[in-house]
Parts: sequence; C-alpha cells; structure tokens
Amino acid sequence: MRVTLLGTGDTTGTPTPGCDCDTCQAARERGVERTRFSVHVENERTGESLLLDASPDFRHQFLTQDVSLPNEVVITHVHFDHLDGLGNAYRLVDSLPVHAATERDPETGTSVAGTVREKYDYLDPVTVHGHAPGETFRAAGLDVTLVPVDHPPLVCYGVVVQDPETGAKLSLTGDTSYDVPTKSRDALRGADLLLADAIVPAALCDHHPMGGRHEDGDGVPRTFGTKHMTREGALSLADELDADETRLVHVSHFYPEDEAFDDALAIDGETFDI
Ligand SMILES: [Zn+2]
Ligand SMILES: [Zn+2]
Ligand SMILES: [Zn+2]
Repeated sequence: MRVTLLGTGDTTGTPTPGCDCDTCQAARERGVERTRFSVHVENERTGESLLLDASPDFRHQFLTQDVSLPNEVVITHVHFDHLDGLGNAYRLVDSLPVHAATERDPETGTSVAGTVREKYDYLDPVTVHGHAPGETFRAAGLDVTLVPVDHPPLVCYGVVVQDPETGAKLSLTGDTSYDVPTKSRDALRGADLLLADAIVPAALCDHHPMGGRHEDGDGVPRTFGTKHMTREGALSLADELDADETRLVHVSHFYPEDEAFDDALAIDGETFDI
C-alpha cells in the first residue's frame, strides 16, 4: 500500500493563520505545511483508496497532493480537525462509506458513528458503517481495526490498517495521551509504518495549565496536558511498539523553530510504500 500524509498538523495547522511566530515564518519560507490531520492509503492491488480522518483542509490537500479521491473513509473521533472535511464529499463522489466506532461516548451520549450519522445525514453519498472497537472490518480491500486510545473527554481510536495479501501494516495512534491501553498497544505493535501523535516537545508542559503527566524514569512528561503525547512520549511509545519506521504527526507550531523541522517530525506530502 502507498501511504500519503495529507495533513500532519494539529487543529490550527502550521503556518497558523494570523501567527508570525518564528516556526510559522520558517514554514512559510521553506514552503512547508502541516495542515489538519488526514492520511491517504492507496491499495495498489485494487486501485481503491482509504482516507483516515477527513480534514477541514480536504480540498487543499487533494489539490496539492497526487492522490485519488477516497473510496472509503475511517473517522477516529469527532473533533473538528478530523471530521469536518467530510462535507467535501458533496458532488465529488457518488458514494462514500464512512467507518467509525459504535461504542457509546459517555461525554456526548452517542458513538463516533452516531455523531457522523447525525451530522452528515443531509449528505446523500455518505453512508455510515459502525464497528465495535477491536473488530476487524474490510475497507478499500484492506483489513482495518479501530483500537481504543485515551483522548479525554471524548472517545477516540487508533487505527490498524493491514493488507490481507501482503501483510503490510500501518498503525496510527490517533489523538491520544501516552496512556494507550495494553490491548491497543498489542494491536498497534510491529507495524511497517507507525504514525504517532506528538503535539509538542515535553518542555512545553510547563506552559500547559494542567502541566504534563505519565512521566518517564527521568521525570519527563510523556503526555501534554491530558489529551496528546509529547514528542518524548510518542518516541517512547514508538520504541515499545517496535515499528520499522515512525513518523511524528499532529505536530503544532509551538515547537521551537530549531526543533520544528527535525527529521522525525512529518510534514505534509510525505509518502511511504509499505
Ligand atoms: Zn505560529
Ligand atoms: Zn482530537
Ligand atoms: Zn486532532
């Protein structure tokens, strides 16, 4: 399968509109973007493609990257930066199966699948297919499993995508703290490519009103606030999950300029053949 990172940024993206911080200025000078999160997976055996999360930057992403429109979509959770691009399906595709978890979210009273169904009921091409977390289903000819992660207060899922013919495996942590359940870690383990949420360096926890948590042996927080992994947390998880290759994603403009373009941090447009 061919994996294209369409959007590697957090909810404001980099550059952030109206921001003249050193990192946003450097991104503009380099012609580099981290738009809102989305990953395109092409099944080269069947010619179908699967979109992991529907970024509000959908239109820009499909105009700037050499990828085909998706045949099917997986939604990890209902935050704006992962869901609100789905409206772009209007008049672009005739039918768009959207896969999401059926587990009821105590916070919203409905599941991710239920929220997508309610929100996009007006959109004829969209049909929502609900799946229990941990159960594998077929989408775009690939085996897909949603695995629970930790992104309070909402339910959120990591995603495992595996080619049933070649065995190639892509793992995505989804938006999550370092507190990923053991069962989900087991499912995400041993990927050819791991995409891990790494919103900021751990040092920035000093600036979060809730600080950091899940400290490592040296006291370095692996979670920023409550919702996302620090860079250090993502690297620590990646080490445990033993992927062939790891890219850090969901990256914010709060990285200092001299760290924001380090090799481990993904930028939009990267492609991987696995
Ligand atoms: Zn900025
Ligand atoms: Zn989120
Ligand atoms: Zn997000």
